[in-house]
Amino acid sequence: MSETTIKTAVIGNPIQHSLSPQIHNYWIKQNKVNTTNYEKIKIDISSAADEIKNLFECGFGGLNVTIPFKELAYKLCDNVDLPIQKLKAVNTIVYKNNIITGYNTDPAGFINSINDQIKNNNIIKKNSLVFGAGGSARSIIYALNKMESNITVINRTAEKVELISKDLDIPLKIKSYKEINNIISDIDLIVNTTSLGMKDNHNIEIDFDKSKANLHVYDLIYNPQQTKLLIDAEMSGCTYQNGLDMLVHQAAESFFIWHGIYPTINEEIFSIIRELK
Ligand code: NAP
Repeated sequence: MSETTIKTAVIGNPIQHSLSPQIHNYWIKQNKVNTTNYEKIKIDISSAADEIKNLFECGFGGLNVTIPFKELAYKLCDNVDLPIQKLKAVNTIVYKNNIITGYNTDPAGFINSINDQIKNNNIIKKNSLVFGAGGSARSIIYALNKMESNITVINRTAEKVELISKDLDIPLKIKSYKEINNIISDIDLIVNTTSLGMKDNHNIEIDFDKSKANLHVYDLIYNPQQTKLLIDAEMSGCTYQNGLDMLVHQAAESFFIWHGIYPTINEEIFSIIRELK
């Protein structure tokens, strides 16, 4: 039995579909961590800051933060390191001795979820195309820049891309959805960080006949597990992965921050969460 007793949960609104409890509780059991079950807690948008502080008073020492509270969580923190000051969003909190420390495990989760072959062939000093400029895009762009990728971003609202470029101090090429098929032949990696492709949403349409044969496509969406973008990528012979990989790897980083144990990421954890979908 480990010595840590930190009590943990994920907060968000909505929160019912979160898979984080299944992931963390599996690892808590696997690693015999001396703690209670990781919970999921819906927070009211109008009173979020007070509710988060109440959770600390109720003994929660570790929180994961999801939509729409990542920016608020950042503002509540007493301590954050430099990358977080640039990202302005926190997805993992530690509360100890009355001090709130914030982390963002999304960039490391994304980097660790990609195998070395893809990193070498499709990312490092290669050309990536990111769809979206929301909260998750910031983490992905930060991570791609760390991996020395040349980044182009397409977003419905171009001004948001300019803001990310300024906040993160990363040069970004900005293109529009109309231009996808003019630039696709130069792209080595595509990352979709938008909600396009989720149920009831329209899809990102790409002419894969014009793409490189070894293009890799990463969709952060995991419900559905295979979006139309990934189906098209598969049909054209590209490699691809969905958002479950990043979900599990960012969770592993949070688990390590709280419990000091890096959990083993095995096929079993993926089968458990795939079955839940
Ligand atoms: P967000 O901050 O709300 O950003 C949403 C993005 O989607 C924005 O770029 C927005 O464009 C774009 N968008 C939404 N509706 C659109 C439409 N109809 N047409 C064109 N663009 C549209 O959300 P987020 O936190 O970045 O999350 C985005 C997605 O990533 C979600 O599907 C989420 O589940 C997934 N995600 C997965 C993981 C993981 O671990 N796998 C982690 C985080 C997020 P505008 O800027 O023009 O509004």
